[in-house]
Amino acid sequence: MTSSPFETVDCVVIGAGVVGLAVARALALSGREVIVVEAAEAIGTETSSRNSEVIHAGIYYPKGSLMAKTCVAGRRRLYAYCAEHGVPHRNCGKLIVATNDAEGNRLTEIKGRAEANGVEGMRLLSAADAMAMEPNLFCTAALLSPATGIVDSHSYMLALQGDAEEHGATFAFNSPLERGRVADGGIEIEVGGIEPMTLRCRTVVNSGGLHAPALAQKITGMPSDRVPTAYYAKGNYFTLTGRSPFTHLIYPVPVPGGLGVHITVDLGGQAKFGPDVEWIDGIDYNVDPHRADKFYAAVRRYWPALRDGAIQPGYAGIRPKIVPQGAPAQDFVVQGPADHGVPGLVNLFGIESPGLTSSLALADLVRDIANA
Ligand SMILES: Cc1cc2nc3c(=O)[nH]c(=O)nc-3n(C[C@H](O)[C@H](O)[C@H](O)COP(=O)(O)OP(=O)(O)OC[C@H]3O[C@@H](n4cnc5c(N)ncnc54)[C@H](O)[C@@H]3O)c2cc1C
Repeated sequence: MTSSPFETVDCVVIGAGVVGLAVARALALSGREVIVVEAAEAIGTETSSRNSEVIHAGIYYPKGSLMAKTCVAGRRRLYAYCAEHGVPHRNCGKLIVATNDAEGNRLTEIKGRAEANGVEGMRLLSAADAMAMEPNLFCTAALLSPATGIVDSHSYMLALQGDAEEHGATFAFNSPLERGRVADGGIEIEVGGIEPMTLRCRTVVNSGGLHAPALAQKITGMPSDRVPTAYYAKGNYFTLTGRSPFTHLIYPVPVPGGLGVHITVDLGGQAKFGPDVEWIDGIDYNVDPHRADKFYAAVRRYWPALRDGAIQPGYAGIRPKIVPQGAPAQDFVVQGPADHGVPGLVNLFGIESPGLTSSLALADLVRDIANA
């Protein structure tokens, strides 16, 4: 792209995480001219590369919520997309495991919620059946979700980028949005970095992840009372020495703020534990090795044979929350002109899990708002 001081472009997508990439692809496929401006030097360097890489079935979310709808629709689309584009993935299934009667009672409620969301194939299992499937597991009952899987998220993002570029989208890396203002018939944005530029755009999609609220506040004319406050809930992971003892993903019954310390496996067979929930004030990806004690205790409830010294600090991701600790869970927020009154602006706030799974469905929603 050229470095003229003032250019007119049709659409700008801010942020090349998995959601920004899917949005750029959907807009480009619909015939729009698209530039993606990304502060980092590459795609997917923040939350999109710091997650569990699970293709969620759509189990836990309230019926009718954007999370429920986009997760179920996005999951179906994602499996098909991965198959068509050769993106490594595996439909390995997941077991939600109860380790006492109280948790066992919650499995029926979780199954009902999943079915209300349209999740296929959910099945309650006795302890004996679950432990026959997974000989290293201890549980008192379990719920099988056959639709759950795993995906190589980086390959998926590369495929989205390739698709977007094939349909004419361009990418500007090392290009942070610095400020913007609502102008006649569009939005004017200033992009910094090594090739600073001012762009006059018809459509701007704010897909800045953890930074989306701060970015929206930088656009003069965007009503600040419509911008949520950003809160951060870190999820720490520990990795296991050796291969996973399980073939399914193993999840406990969920805890407030997250899904509980679960065991997932990547496509290379590396098992990881997490994420836990640690509310923090600023972005910090260090994993405190002392948290291992809590991981051992949480995991041994369903995998008693976990040996001392078998896990080590892995990595962390940060959930882009828009409600504080203790508040009821918040749905995804996709804000268009009908919500905030700024023509051409779409904000994506609170795109935490299952944002990876939901990405293709969220992208369709944003495209439809942008093209309305
Ligand atoms: C611990 C954890 C586990 C998760 N596990 C799963 C899972 O298993 N399955 C699932 O479906 N979902 C999961 N998620 C959710 C999923 O990872 C996110 O929903 C998804 O990655 C969000 O993508 P995004 O594009 O919105 O944000 P991001 O990936 O954060 O991308 C935002 C981009 O904006 C860029 N940016 C920021 N500021 C600027 C600026 N000023 N100018 C230009 N660019 C800027 C950033 O550099 C970044 O590249 C998990 C999330 C967490 C935190």
